[in-house]
Amino acid sequence: MPEHISDCTILNNGVKMPWLGLGVYKAREGDEVVGAVKSALETGYRSIDTAAFYENERGVGRGIKESGVPREEIFVTTKVWNSQQGYESTLQAFEESRRKLGLEYIDLYLIHWPVKGKYKETWKALEKLYKDGWVRAIGVSNFQIHHLQDVLEDCEVKPAVNQVEYHPYLTQKELHTFCRENGIQLEAWSPLARGQILDHPTIVELERKYNKTPAQIVLRWDLQHEVVTIPKSVNPQRIKENADIFDFQLSAEDMERLDGMNINRRIGPDPDHFDF
Ligand code: NDP
Repeated sequence: MPEHISDCTILNNGVKMPWLGLGVYKAREGDEVVGAVKSALETGYRSIDTAAFYENERGVGRGIKESGVPREEIFVTTKVWNSQQGYESTLQAFEESRRKLGLEYIDLYLIHWPVKGKYKETWKALEKLYKDGWVRAIGVSNFQIHHLQDVLEDCEVKPAVNQVEYHPYLTQKELHTFCRENGIQLEAWSPLARGQILDHPTIVELERKYNKTPAQIVLRWDLQHEVVTIPKSVNPQRIKENADIFDFQLSAEDMERLDGMNINRRIGPDPDHFDF
């Protein structure tokens, strides 16, 4: 059970990835994202999740440099966007991300969405980047079981991570079991459901019982399910709040109550029916 902000899961290739990271979707390029990254690193976060699509990779890179924390202590994730999928275009997209971030290597490179007819070629490009040593681990995002099976069928390198929407309204049990059985680390995006679950009566009750905030209850639930979590905030107070989750434990009964909130409700697009 993670007990410290820098505690890590060990990915299927032996690389360590922190259980907690900062998400930066919708953090504005420039001072806002730079400030969020610096504030997170100062708090003790050692993982940052960005993407080409977020258009803030430059700021993430600047925040890392200005923080003074050694590069090798930080785990940086970025993703190839849908319009850039395909073999050559992914290699090019990676180079653009790397240049914008101003980093020698990336820790984790993900396929952002399973674009039909494209994602297998994209995976080959990720394998090449991995074998050439530009990226320490490769993975996918928004992949359903059938997408994973399709990749696993003939890949040379197995995906290390699947980053998907995951919170108490969408517990993705079958997908989680499949990932666990295949050595793929599940990672939660929108772990707070962008705030939409925080006033649910069960969470409010647990908030009082544990003397923790609603966000802390939900993020702790991720950790106890062995799911990597990357809450987004640009507010230094909330960045700290979201990291203060290593000093308490939810009981098995309360974990089940949170699991029981599942209504298979997505706040983001369905990976089987998206058109972008
Ligand atoms: P989150 O569930 O992390 O919620 C973020 C929202 O909640 C923001 O509005 C934030 O506001 C607010 N918030 C943060 N902390 C608290 C708190 N303690 N109490 C109350 N409100 C709070 O949503 P995201 O969609 O941003 O998901 C997290 C990360 O996952 C993204 O930033 C991105 O890195 C990744 N992601 C990946 C996707 C994919 O397709 N792979 C899709 C979507 C997200 P404020 O900033 O003002 O604090």
